[in-house]
Amino acid sequence: MNNKKLLIIFLIITISFSLKGCSSVSLNNEIKADNLLKIHYIDVGQGDSILISINGKNMLIDSGSAVKEEYIVKYLKKQGIKKLHHVIATHPHEDHIGSMSSIISNFNVENFYAPKITSSTNYFNNMIDELMKKGLKIQVASSGKKIQLYDNVICEIIAPNSTTYENTNNYSVVLKLTYGKCSFIFTGDAEAISENEMLSNNTNLKCDVLKLGHHGSSTSTTDSFLEKASPKIAIISCGKNNPFRHPSKKTIGKIKSKDMQVYRTDIDGDIVLLSNGSFIKKQ
Ligand SMILES: [Zn+2]
Repeated sequence: MNNKKLLIIFLIITISFSLKGCSSVSLNNEIKADNLLKIHYIDVGQGDSILISINGKNMLIDSGSAVKEEYIVKYLKKQGIKKLHHVIATHPHEDHIGSMSSIISNFNVENFYAPKITSSTNYFNNMIDELMKKGLKIQVASSGKKIQLYDNVICEIIAPNSTTYENTNNYSVVLKLTYGKCSFIFTGDAEAISENEMLSNNTNLKCDVLKLGHHGSSTSTTDSFLEKASPKIAIISCGKNNPFRHPSKKTIGKIKSKDMQVYRTDIDGDIVLLSNGSFIKKQ
C-alpha cells in the first residue's frame, strides 16, 4: 500500500471518529473563545458548587457550605462574574445552600430556581431573607422545564419527578445541559429513588460528563443509571477526609470498572472543563 492510500484511510478514520459526537480529545485550535463553554466544579470541600459560563451568560448550581463563603465569592469575582443569570439551589442542605445568601447579596441574580421543599435551618431562612431583599421569587424547579443559557446551550430539568420524598436528597434538581454534540448531567444529591424515576420515565440520560450524585455516596449512581448515562468523564465533588467517607469504595469500584476518566475535587481541587460543542477538554 502506498503512502497516498494510507493517508486516505487515515483521513476516513479521523473523519468518522469526529462525527461520532462529543469526545474528550483536545480542543480544535481554531475555536473562538467567545463560543467556549466553561464548567467549573469548584472545590468547596464537602459540598457542591458548579459555575457554568458561556459568552458572558452565567449559571450557578449550588453555593457550597457556609465555611466556604469567602472562597466561593472570591472565586466567582476572580472569574469576572457580576451577574448570575440563573442560580439553582438543588436542595436545602447546608453543603449546597450554606453560602447562598452571600451569593444572592454579592451578585446580580436574575433567575432563582429551587425544588418545592422548605427547611427550618438558619441557612435556608437566610437564603429566603436575601431573596426577599432582592425582590426575587423562587421559580419551582420540576422535571420537564428548560432553561436556555445561551443560543444552543440548553439545560433541561430531568428531576425531581415526584412531589414528595422521604429523604430531602431526592428533591435534588437534576439538570442535563446540552451544547452541540456535548452533554453534561448535574445530579445534586439525587439518590437511587430519583435515579430510578428518571430511568422509568425513559429520560435520555446519555451524557459525556456526569457529576455523580451525593458526593459519590453508595446511595446514588446505581448500576442501571450509570449504564444509561455511560459518561466518558465522571466528576465527584467532595471534601478531603470528610466524615461521611464520600465517595464510597463501591462507587469508585463501579467507575474504575468502566472506561471513564474520573476527577475529584478532594484530589484535583477546582476542576474546569471546556467545550466548544464538539469536544471537551480539562483546563
Ligand atoms: Zn450534599
